[in-house]
Amino acid sequence: MRPFLTYSRNVFIPVTDVCRNRCLYCGFRRDEGKIISRHEATDLLDRGAAAGCTEALFSLGEAPWEVPGFDDLLRNAGIGDLIDYLIELAELALERDLLPHTNAGLLSKEEMKKLAPYNASMGLMLETTSEVGAHRYSPGKRPDLRLKAIAAAGDLRIPFTTGILVGIGETREDRIRSIQAIKRLHEIHGHIQEVIVQPFDPKPEIAMSHQAPPSFEVLAETVRMARSILPSSVAVQVPPNLADPLPLVEAGAEDLGGISPVTPDWINLERRWPTPEELGSWLSGFELRERLAVYPRYIDLEWCGKMTRSLVERLAGPDGLRRRDRP
Ligand code: SF4
Repeated sequence: MRPFLTYSRNVFIPVTDVCRNRCLYCGFRRDEGKIISRHEATDLLDRGAAAGCTEALFSLGEAPWEVPGFDDLLRNAGIGDLIDYLIELAELALERDLLPHTNAGLLSKEEMKKLAPYNASMGLMLETTSEVGAHRYSPGKRPDLRLKAIAAAGDLRIPFTTGILVGIGETREDRIRSIQAIKRLHEIHGHIQEVIVQPFDPKPEIAMSHQAPPSFEVLAETVRMARSILPSSVAVQVPPNLADPLPLVEAGAEDLGGISPVTPDWINLERRWPTPEELGSWLSGFELRERLAVYPRYIDLEWCGKMTRSLVERLAGPDGLRRRDRP
């Protein structure tokens, strides 16, 4: 039997590009930001459902309510509170048989507690445990705050996605420390379902446009380190639109993350998602399997949000991955 790799078929909803941080590698945040309207979100969700997606990925800038003018943006869109709006959007996704996964940056435990019932899983990139210059204008990128938030998600038994960014000024030792920190949190809480190893991707419009991306050797070595440090129950994920996945899979990655047939990668707009057919031909030695936004063992533990459970049961096959008999 060929070894298998997993991915999730998702629709990516960029809720708002307003963000209190100013990471020097960011190509997503905008000064004149916007918030997605109900109409725009519904249109994307409908398209995702029609294309057979099972996941609605809601992504947004961090703590946008701290940015002057954001209240006006909310008011003009007829939105009272951003967390309530995220719940409303998650309900719209569930109505279309899409499992919500929200990545809203740093949230308080109370905010996560409100969102958790409507999400199959949630996420927050750790990025790095070191203090890098790329984060000097980003108050939310303090490693202690992010580790605390990931721990709070564990207290709440939220199946969780986190990861590290490679090539933002950290050292090899920093990368090892970051992966070890994630491992320690997982040992305490048992909630980390996957760890993304994501390369820094330079773009002309960003402050770090002249910095080179990490070499392939560094990336593959980081995947190998992650695979050897983390327990086997935690998947190592690589984004196949940012790096050739074959050498990274050979280095130990088992998951290719969310791949959308209908929406771009809003964070890396110029980086087209490969299709499952392209992935199948690049990775012909492996069987590609579609998974849900929640990994099988958390389905068994009933850790996914309670409003998502009946849909999870309908979408999952006996092995906890997406049913094969569903179109
Ligand atoms: S937190 Fe995310 S959206 Fe905000 S500036 Fe940093 S990378 Fe961009």
